[in-house]
Amino acid sequence: MSSTAATATQHATPAEQTVAPATHTSDAPPGGRRPHPPDTRRGAPPRAPDERRRGPRQLYARDRRLPPDAPLVYLPPGGAPLLRHDCHQGWLVCPVPDCPDPRLITRGGSRRDHFAHRRLDGSAGHAPEGWYHLCGKALVGAWLCDRYPQARVQVDHEAVANGQVPDVLAEFPDGRRFAFEVQYAPLTIDAWQRRHQGYAAQAITDVWLFGHLPPHLRAADPSHFVFSPLLEAVELAGGRVRWIDPDAQTIRTPRHTVGPQRAQTLGGQHVLVPAPALPLDACWINGTSFCTPADAEQDALWPAHLQELQMAVEQRAARRAQDEAHQRALGRVAARRQPALEAAWAAYRQAKFGDPRHIPPIIAHAEPSDHGITANLPVHWHARLFEAVIQGRRGQTFTYQRAVAPFLQDAPAERRAIYRALTAYLLRLRQAGYLAFEATPSGYITSPITVLADTRHPPPTS
Ligand SMILES: [Zn+2]
Repeated sequence: MSSTAATATQHATPAEQTVAPATHTSDAPPGGRRPHPPDTRRGAPPRAPDERRRGPRQLYARDRRLPPDAPLVYLPPGGAPLLRHDCHQGWLVCPVPDCPDPRLITRGGSRRDHFAHRRLDGSAGHAPEGWYHLCGKALVGAWLCDRYPQARVQVDHEAVANGQVPDVLAEFPDGRRFAFEVQYAPLTIDAWQRRHQGYAAQAITDVWLFGHLPPHLRAADPSHFVFSPLLEAVELAGGRVRWIDPDAQTIRTPRHTVGPQRAQTLGGQHVLVPAPALPLDACWINGTSFCTPADAEQDALWPAHLQELQMAVEQRAARRAQDEAHQRALGRVAARRQPALEAAWAAYRQAKFGDPRHIPPIIAHAEPSDHGITANLPVHWHARLFEAVIQGRRGQTFTYQRAVAPFLQDAPAERRAIYRALTAYLLRLRQAGYLAFEATPSGYITSPITVLADTRHPPPTS
């Protein structure tokens, strides 16, 4: 019987384990470069220990010889020797506006070449969110200036009529206006909708480039990313989701699939998508759309995709409403039963305890897991367990089957919940020194249970 108890306690389900279709296409971009090395720690791209301490590896610098709105200088792989002199001369500096000491050096060697602050004072480097937001804006601004010299491009300092300040504003001679938002900070769906509608009201096309770090880009496995409710809202409102990586100078676009090919997390909380990274330089503006080479293949299935997405969102909302209604119903039943449970406990306490006002803490204390046994209040069934197999039985043993039998008799249909609650309490009793038995880390009890102490002879430590 204890083996059944174990199955009841061994259902640790990873919340976001992938249910991927049997086959999915590779997400390697053209040229065969992997967009990221496979990531075993879910969520963040791998980082070296000193990067966590000193902030992100800086690949961008500002050239003080150029006007403040000039594009930042990018350090390409292997480019350290070329820019070392300009750093030493003090021309290339950290682009973060309030940097306490913007002097830079270049670093090469075993890791990718990068800039580093000349002096670090033991202080932490710049926070990744702010750093990548800054680099992302600068990168998009530079890309627009380079590709569309006829457009007027403002990075981060021109408010549109309603006061919103886009990260990058591009105005074309024919009147088309684009607001690029590089979004690394967390954002609620409501806040996104307000900003999106603000732009729409002024006929400005907003292009959302979400950050390549959590919370916006989270890897579920090496080839799939979590498509969060915010991202769903963006697409259901008519947008296309993009992620920007300023270091790689790439844009990721989700590669949606429809029907049975669609991957989602276990339980269906999130859709999962591959999202190949393509160079920003391969993207373009067409009419009032920001386009990437990944879009063409998506266009054909887009209407079906939106329909499925809409359905998934509605189903999830319906399921949530059902769960809440269920919880409320359970709450009402519990409230109705409470007086009877309390009366039963009062009677038991009067009958069994010498001084019914003083219940030993090991019996009185309840944990959330105790509510798996519903026929009695936790304190009541704890006391029943003590009475049945522990009290006055030091040195004796009992089996799990013997301990669980009375509770199974009360509510045979709630077997699994009963196993879980009882096992959790037995483990607490072992922890407190009342019982000895062997169990696997997941709570599978593998030996008879020996009584070491009872409430008259408590364990020495309690
Ligand atoms: Zn700095």
